Amino acid sequence: MQQDELWIGTMLEGNARWVLVRSTDTVEEARKRHGMSPVATAALGRLMTGDLILASSLKGEENITLRLLGDGPLEGVVAVGNAQGEVRGYVREPLVDLPLKASGKLDVATAVGSGELAVSRSLQNGEVYTGMVPLVSGEIAEDLVHYLLTSEQIPSAMLLGVLVEKDYHVAGAAGLLIQPLPGATEGDIQAIESLLGQIRVGISELASQSQSMDELLAHLMGQLSYQVLERRTVKFLCTCSKARLSDTLVSLGKKEIADLISDGKAEIVCHFCNEHYLFNVEELQQISEQAGMV
Ligand SMILES: [Zn+2]
Repeated sequence: MQQDELWIGTMLEGNARWVLVRSTDTVEEARKRHGMSPVATAALGRLMTGDLILASSLKGEENITLRLLGDGPLEGVVAVGNAQGEVRGYVREPLVDLPLKASGKLDVATAVGSGELAVSRSLQNGEVYTGMVPLVSGEIAEDLVHYLLTSEQIPSAMLLGVLVEKDYHVAGAAGLLIQPLPGATEGDIQAIESLLGQIRVGISELASQSQSMDELLAHLMGQLSYQVLERRTVKFLCTCSKARLSDTLVSLGKKEIADLISDGKAEIVCHFCNEHYLFNVEELQQISEQAGMV
């Protein structure tokens, strides 16, 4: 059983860099946790996969939050990832169901709607930088490419795909980013364009059919030469814990906590992973005492 991985490398004699991620199990984990419909799974899966690609160039504890702020029925999609290959995320309306497009594909663009993409980089020192661009397609890969070009002046090509089976499970999910480097010639750029034009089968189908990352990469690169520089593992991982949520309760203040105590218990659900945390009266009283000291 292969596990999800992210590989980084070069191609065209070092004139371009690429990042490839297989995220099948990671997206399936998100689908199961949130009980998502196929189109919600495709939207969140593509965003989490794109997030892993963008976050792969970060340092240490830095992370990138991607938010699709669209007016479609999903009412927003959020993913957060880091360079360790850990990603989490959610959609606001996980049960959205839409008719397939004429091509037979899930209609992610309609589910997302029009609006904006917000990209927030959280640095080691706690500073957060946010850039906003309009959504140009809602299909997500095009939107991330547009962000990289307009906000960071980095020309890129990106493929993101999630294949959802009739029984709703995720059969394949993957993403590929290719960026020409400063030494790239016109011929190199044409080679990248024709490579992407030749990929007839979706990247998610290729991910579901490939037995290994080597096989997936070889399929995608076709005749072009390439080198693999780094290999990392990828997984769905949330940062929530009972202690963290207890801190959130403390920040509500004594009056709100008193209301919870009179209810006899409090249940807090983490948006990102749908984990339920239960606090009993005794625990709430301790939290109230902490709130009194703040
Ligand atoms: Zn969580």
